[in-house]
Amino acid sequence: MSSIRVGAATDVGQVRDLNEDSYSAGEQLAVVADGIGGHAAGEVASAMAVETIAEHFGRHPNAAGLLRAVERANQSVAEAAAVQADRQGMGTTVVALGVTSGRRDELTLALVSVGDSRAYRFANDELVQLTEDHTVAAERQRRGEITAEQAATDRQRHVLTRALGIPQVLEVDQWRITMGPGERLLLCSDGLCNEVSDQEIAGVLRSTDDPQLAATTLAELARGHGGRDNITVLVVDPATDARLADQGTVTRVHQPRQVAPEAVRTAPLRGSRQRIVTPRVVAFLLAIAVVLLTGWMVLRWYATSTYYLKSNGAELVIYQGHPSGFLWFEPTQRAKTGIKVNQLLPTTQRRVQRPVVEPTLDAAWAYAVNQHNAWKVQQRAYAGLERVAP
Ligand code: MG
Repeated sequence: MSSIRVGAATDVGQVRDLNEDSYSAGEQLAVVADGIGGHAAGEVASAMAVETIAEHFGRHPNAAGLLRAVERANQSVAEAAAVQADRQGMGTTVVALGVTSGRRDELTLALVSVGDSRAYRFANDELVQLTEDHTVAAERQRRGEITAEQAATDRQRHVLTRALGIPQVLEVDQWRITMGPGERLLLCSDGLCNEVSDQEIAGVLRSTDDPQLAATTLAELARGHGGRDNITVLVVDPATDARLADQGTVTRVHQPRQVAPEAVRTAPLRGSRQRIVTPRVVAFLLAIAVVLLTGWMVLRWYATSTYYLKSNGAELVIYQGHPSGFLWFEPTQRAKTGIKVNQLLPTTQRRVQRPVVEPTLDAAWAYAVNQHNAWKVQQRAYAGLERVAP
């Protein structure tokens, strides 16, 4: 029977909170998708892509069906991103391997790729990368603008030029693959190949026959090496009863046009630091500014919400603010009452040596005027007493 045996492992890694990779591993289909986009949108995009591809390829299990499945997935992700604000800009890479041969035929597979998730072939004790990374750095390297060494450290080595769900013309790389005895295929997200060297990957594939154990071992290696991104690994072997070619072949079906690399989105970064000013970042900064401004206004309101009266030595003065200040808000002089301190009753004179707090400016004025009037009443009473005195 023409089928595959897939060992699968996925791990969130050691740095990220969410695993935005998704995969499908069956007897007829193996898919890895690495989602991009914040607030779990990447997780949604990759899961949606894998689900759509599995569903469509299940009904059309041939090379054209796999290509169409990827196109459908692209459409689904783009539509979902368009209708929900928090999913705008979400996308996903995809690398998928589908069995396209009939039950009695030699095992033949179709491979498709968009993005920087990879497919490798392990044959004749040698690991060869089949897919090309659709990143700005890799595209520039292919165009001869930079060397492999420069591409390996280029700031844009994780910036994707193609992804599912991003509104642009979808271009899918395609291959036709047959497998010979002892040959294996490997699909992975960049969380594996960024952490584990080709030599180490080859070492595990050479020494571990069981595809499940090989996949688990590779994911653990990537995690052990830092696990700075989500890790997904599928090790694909022919089923034990599959008919195989004497020697496997890989044929590129579709040669993509060479276009100037243009970033579609910033993929998850590893190592490099880039400043990304997105509408979401701007909105976040604006929200912070509003919170800070509101906080400042509340503090200022509290600091200036009371008034107090105090003698300045000669005159009664109204101040605004807390007598001893509040945080960095110092009290300010609000009004001179024109009332001399010696025009107040002796008890009031003593009281206004220290602040007399009132809740409003009107209340402060009322206190000053009332105390002054009390003094005037007393003065008139004294004058009356002097008149009636013999
Ligand atoms: Mg990744």
